Amino acid sequence: MRIGQSTDIHRMAEGRRLVLGGVEIPYEKGLVGHSDADALTHALAEAILGALALGDLGRWFPDTDPKWEGVNSLLILKECGRMMKERGYRIGNADCLVLIEKPKMAPHIMNMRKNFAEMLETDLDRISVKATRGEGLGFVGRGEGVMAQAVVLLEKADEGV
Ligand code: MG
Repeated sequence: MRIGQSTDIHRMAEGRRLVLGGVEIPYEKGLVGHSDADALTHALAEAILGALALGDLGRWFPDTDPKWEGVNSLLILKECGRMMKERGYRIGNADCLVLIEKPKMAPHIMNMRKNFAEMLETDLDRISVKATRGEGLGFVGRGEGVMAQAVVLLEKADEGV
């Protein structure tokens, strides 16, 4: 088994889409970044790379590469899943957390889990997504940005469950 973790941060600004866990969420502000700036998906993808000791997300998907401009980050996650399988691993389980003041994440959590499970070709009950607010404190609490974290456990694909 191998374990990986990651944290991602993106700024919030008007005139940008808010995409988290591959779900577009209607809101007055969105996330700033080279791709769709989906911090939650980035955290999970990078946690997988971390478990494989393959470095950070920027090494594989550089923000200087026009190929990844405006891209749906689920495709980045899918690619990390492919790299995982290529090395003989599958998802044991993943636990993801997004810290965001507004809007409410609860109505979207199930769709985020489904997106992740589909991209990684794993079961829904192996993918956890949670959200918490900033209680008015710091950049999250002021609504200036979001933070996302993920922890993932990989198991050898040829081992019994
Ligand atoms: Mg990012």
